[in-house]
Amino acid sequence: MKNAKRGITRRDMLTGSAAAGGLALLGTPTFSFGQTARASGGTATAGLEDLRKLLGDSLVIPGDDAYESSRKVWNAMIDKHPAAIARCNGVADILQVVNYARDRNIAVSVRGGGHNVAGKAVRDGAITIDLGRMHGIWVDPKTKRARAQGGVRWGAFDKETLALNLVTTGGTVATTGIGGLTLGGGLGWLMRKHGLSCDNVLSAEVVTADGRLLTASQSENSDLYWAIRGGGGNFGVVTSFEYQLHDLEPVVGGMALYPASMLKDMFHFYRDYTSSAPDSVTAMAGILIGPPGTPVEGQTAGLIAVCHSGSASDGERAMRPIKAFGPPAADFIGPTSYSAMQSLFGAAGQPGSRNYWRSNFMSGLSDDVIDTMVAHSDELPPPGTLILVEHLGGAIRRLGDQETAFSNRGADYNVSVLGTWLEAAEDDDNIAWVRSFGDELKAFATGGAYVNYMAGDEGTASVRAAYESNFKRLVDVKRKYDPTNFFSGNQNIAP
Ligand SMILES: Cc1cc2nc3c(=O)[nH]c(=O)nc-3n(C[C@H](O)[C@H](O)[C@H](O)COP(=O)(O)OP(=O)(O)OC[C@H]3O[C@@H](n4cnc5c(N)ncnc54)[C@H](O)[C@@H]3O)c2cc1C
Repeated sequence: MKNAKRGITRRDMLTGSAAAGGLALLGTPTFSFGQTARASGGTATAGLEDLRKLLGDSLVIPGDDAYESSRKVWNAMIDKHPAAIARCNGVADILQVVNYARDRNIAVSVRGGGHNVAGKAVRDGAITIDLGRMHGIWVDPKTKRARAQGGVRWGAFDKETLALNLVTTGGTVATTGIGGLTLGGGLGWLMRKHGLSCDNVLSAEVVTADGRLLTASQSENSDLYWAIRGGGGNFGVVTSFEYQLHDLEPVVGGMALYPASMLKDMFHFYRDYTSSAPDSVTAMAGILIGPPGTPVEGQTAGLIAVCHSGSASDGERAMRPIKAFGPPAADFIGPTSYSAMQSLFGAAGQPGSRNYWRSNFMSGLSDDVIDTMVAHSDELPPPGTLILVEHLGGAIRRLGDQETAFSNRGADYNVSVLGTWLEAAEDDDNIAWVRSFGDELKAFATGGAYVNYMAGDEGTASVRAAYESNFKRLVDVKRKYDPTNFFSGNQNIAP
């Protein structure tokens, strides 16, 4: 079977006889089959036949039936052609791939849930370490801890913990991977009460570039433990995370929609509301194109989405100011469940849309920021673009900036332009729109951005700014655990 796009047969891939295409080497773009290539001081073999012997059908290569679907990630704009996709069944497979690729200077990428907007899970010519088959979850209700493998998604994680009335801060969309989300921080409905997802990591098992399986915790490899809580996938493949869980409490929340004419008032109200909201409340506000079935369907609309976790009466009290503000076009706020909150943004998880994002951490929500957002409100690329303001603080700020790699803990808000559209022909215009809007907002920002929302073309200065004063320490940890930058398919911290 021919891979039409690249003209390489499956046999060519295994024997290394094709003239074009091939393996991306560490520190070089692409290695053509048939060449002898040297990069970073080593030699790359031309084919993948040895790896195929080790992994069998778990290794997917161009020409295999599963190749096209396996190379796709959530963002439909990403169109990468890995040399192979290793669908790892466990730690043993990961070790095989890491050792194989490292010894031959072949580049790798790591795929958790495949949701990263920058598409960092796949790279042209590299071997994708795909963790999708590693979706085991073990919950211990006695210790209130859960261990979850690196390929688990939040929907599955929530299902297991909620069955035992336990919960931890997780992503707001069920199909997002715990891997990338946790490693970059992890914003969710419980973040102001229980901290970021990464703040709830008690330990992790990590395969490092030199082919060791290490435990990262407060008592073992504590520098690695510090770095993986916010530093992204820079330090190794996390084969499993151990999370602190919390008792599930009653939830009051949901969302309210407002007509475009109220946008300015809505953001002013939201700013006042969040400035005095208790840590049991996490609230977001935004501008979107009204969802189907609502009175603002297809029109520019305002959004307040909110979650209170605590006693039902406290929850009802916390919602009163929102109920008093209005009138909304639609109000879906009331007693609900944590799982209902976790499916509020479910539509955003559908694959097939094209995405380009920008985010900026803000200290306060100034009139200038509000005016800028409102000024662009009638330009949103349809159908799914969202301008989103996430209120931070609370438990996130109870840890100091230096306690984990995640920085910008002092920021009050994360203001993002999440461009989402369907047509490839609109890519250039919409990317330009998000960039220029994002740049306007940046003028009012702290200078930092949330690494998990980065589109991937922001440049090294932006990655550095995302880590602020932790950057130097992150570089030191990188030098120790990954001195050759083997794990570079990420928001990269070069050694
Ligand atoms: C629809 C949608 C909703 C989202 N909602 C939220 C949200 O509510 N809160 C929030 O904070 N973020 C959210 N995000 C952003 C999300 O945190 C990032 O996209 C994150 O990268 C997703 O993780 P993943 O494992 O699915 O990504 P992938 O694309 O699989 O991985 C991204 C990168 O993470 C690293 N990585 C992933 N898993 C591992 C692992 N096990 N070991 C080592 N490295 C690994 C790798 O470097 C990889 O390249 C959302 C994104 C989308 C698209």
